[in-house]
Amino acid sequence: MSERTRRKSGQKIIADVLPDLKRKRESQNELIAALEHAVTILGEEPQPRPACRILVELVPISSFQTFRAHCDCCDSVLDGFNDNFRFCPMCGSRITDIRHEETAEEASNRLTEAAIKEHFANVGRSS
Ligand SMILES: [Zn+2]
Repeated sequence: MSERTRRKSGQKIIADVLPDLKRKRESQNELIAALEHAVTILGEEPQPRPACRILVELVPISSFQTFRAHCDCCDSVLDGFNDNFRFCPMCGSRITDIRHEETAEEASNRLTEAAIKEHFANVGRSS
């Protein structure tokens, strides 16, 4: 085999393999970047969940003693709340206190506050 033929043969082999090697290197670089990102995230301190307090309405919403409650963290209404919940199903905050309304007056105050809140929310929307 002449030197010229040997060089041509070597050039063809390298030219055929080079694009594949470049693709593999790009894919490895992407994998390395993803792994570095994962290492950074895994190294972060876990954030404690925010705490919330739950107010359970006085009157059940069905005859099966199903209660409606309110989360003070996200302001959500939680239908079907029960006292075994440890986290708010809407915002995921940790429940630190569950309080049940005890009097009709307390329930009435809550409804009044909600009506006032809604009124001012509507006033803000219309202006
Ligand atoms: Zn919540």
